[in-house]
Amino acid sequence: MAFSSIVVAAGTGSRAGGAKQWRPLGGKPVIRWSVEALLGAGCDEIIVVLSDGAEAEAATALEGLTSWRAVRGGAQRADSVRAGLAALLRTDRAVLIHDAARPFLKPELIDALLSALTTADGAIPALPIADTLKRGLDGTVTDTVDRTDLWRAQTPQAFMADRLITAYAVWPADETPTDDAAVVERDGGRIALVPGDPRLMKLTYPEDFAMAEAFIPKQTRVGTGFDVHRWGPGGAVWLCGVEIPHDQTLIGHSDADAGLHALTDAILGALAEGDIGDHFPPTDPKWKGAASDQFLLHAADMVTARGGRIIHVDVTLICERPKVKPHRLGMRERIADLLVLPLDAVSVKATTSEGLGFTGRNEGLAAQAAATIELPV
Ligand code: MG
Repeated sequence: MAFSSIVVAAGTGSRAGGAKQWRPLGGKPVIRWSVEALLGAGCDEIIVVLSDGAEAEAATALEGLTSWRAVRGGAQRADSVRAGLAALLRTDRAVLIHDAARPFLKPELIDALLSALTTADGAIPALPIADTLKRGLDGTVTDTVDRTDLWRAQTPQAFMADRLITAYAVWPADETPTDDAAVVERDGGRIALVPGDPRLMKLTYPEDFAMAEAFIPKQTRVGTGFDVHRWGPGGAVWLCGVEIPHDQTLIGHSDADAGLHALTDAILGALAEGDIGDHFPPTDPKWKGAASDQFLLHAADMVTARGGRIIHVDVTLICERPKVKPHRLGMRERIADLLVLPLDAVSVKATTSEGLGFTGRNEGLAAQAAATIELPV
């Protein structure tokens, strides 16, 4: 069943420390979760109600999504809903009014609301109240409230659009409704209660974001990387982001930091995003002599862009010389700094190859790495 939606995103988010509807959650802006859920459930007209000057943020947050357009909201939430209703092209069918700050909207709930609407003037998701309710004043309980028949109302709230428009038309100008169902109730309408979803919480305070992140299903991935560079004449060598005085240097197009190259490849491997050569072609003169920090930071940014995080990295350098041990802590600190990880999540190890092979003959240095990351499923 096709339906319209109004997504109220006009808040400036003073309590959440900035407009929360644009903040990233699990790799995408908060509002995008809801708009994607509505589109997935068959909604073909979404009015996004914005505060003044938020058009560019909305366009970025909803880039690539169809069937939505923006209108300017008002001072109160009800004014914003009225603006959204006025912009609807179709008023002879269902409309869902939803708060942009409730990201975890499930298709099953949308279906339940639309079904309930066939026998009621409105339908709202609601949760029973588990906690005992108290009235209090100045730090003292004044009363215990009977919680029988009390419900916590969530959004989206569903109505036939013309029914809601009629109800808003007769709502007293000097009163402010706290939700849309109240407007239809006042006009004599019957509102159906549909089982709500505890995860459909409204992100209100900064700490709500940490809880919401924890709700997003994640997978753990491990990637590995390997790199080799040849020794040549020089006076210092870059290893794991640290320059070490040495009687040779590693030869390469960039700074030839095999440790950071292996680590970059490990992260790209965990993302299944190719290898360092795909992202920084050695044929491109731009990367001649380049510091390998930027390769690592690029891979780390790709993890962040996917809504993930790096949990742990481990690098092994394989060489006879230089001695790595005196520089290990510096290398770990440098990598921890670049990846914004605690020091105990960054390991750098070294081994010789007992004089065997190209590393044993001091022809080159090899590095291998593993990266553990967490990504939204
Ligand atoms: Mg390399």
